[in-house]
Amino acid sequence: MNDDIPFDKNLELAPDIVDEPAPGVRRIMANNPGPFTFKGTVSYIVGRGKVAIVDPGPDDAAHIAALLDAVRNETVTHIFVTHTHRDHSPAVPAIKAATGATVYAEGPHRAARPLHIGEHNPLDASADRDFRPDIALMDGEVIAGDGWSIEAVATPGHTANHMSYALKEKNTLFAGDHVMGWATSIVAPPDGAMSDYMDSLAKLARRDEAIYFPGHGPAIADAPRFVNYYILHRKAREASILHRLSKGTTDVPSIVRAIYIGIDPRLTGAAGLSVLAHLEDLVARGLVVTEGQPAIDGVYRLAG
Ligand SMILES: [Zn+2]
Repeated sequence: MNDDIPFDKNLELAPDIVDEPAPGVRRIMANNPGPFTFKGTVSYIVGRGKVAIVDPGPDDAAHIAALLDAVRNETVTHIFVTHTHRDHSPAVPAIKAATGATVYAEGPHRAARPLHIGEHNPLDASADRDFRPDIALMDGEVIAGDGWSIEAVATPGHTANHMSYALKEKNTLFAGDHVMGWATSIVAPPDGAMSDYMDSLAKLARRDEAIYFPGHGPAIADAPRFVNYYILHRKAREASILHRLSKGTTDVPSIVRAIYIGIDPRLTGAAGLSVLAHLEDLVARGLVVTEGQPAIDGVYRLAG
């Protein structure tokens, strides 16, 4: 799957070892590899002397210690959080307590839409519901630090509160889980929403940051071109779903079997939710119909 995107899975980075992939940007990866996290969550340190940390990462004692060790003899003035999945934000309280830094993010975790009657949230365990920023950021706000300034770029879709951060001096974007170099982003209802996700991709395509540093995997060079691949990939996925529906009434498991050939079995549940995200969008646009609200166990057909 995903042969259409030029993925890069080369990441020669050992857990909890600091490197500096660009001048003034250091990174350090947590030891939490998995089907959704690749080799691990990457935390970033911006600046020198008085620094910001982007995405402190999971609540992992070794990672927290390594991150604090990396900024020993420096002052952490700011913590930026891209979103509230458990591999990105739960280390915030420990880093804040040790450094006194101010925590910036879009807001607490929330779903992109209310739960339907009888629906349970399959993503509950992945969310950090304890997280609260000190300062809630609006799209376009610029926060100035010592020798760097960061613009908040709202990129909802993967989660409703997903924020990317543009490092103005370096023409660089911290992309969180919105755009990653090693795999497509997961967009899973009710926390994620495909229409928001596509709007956020289109928004990034209009910007000019050349390099992205994602929450997982290596840096993305030639970022605008990569974002266009991501957009084309989503449109192709939507076309595949519409093609399957053109053959008759069907359900989410049948669509997953038809379009995710050779998928890692651990990702089947996520693939089903990703298909549901597309179906929600197609129903909202009047192209597909279903009984009641679009649901994971619903039956779908083309409109008209
Ligand atoms: Zn995430």
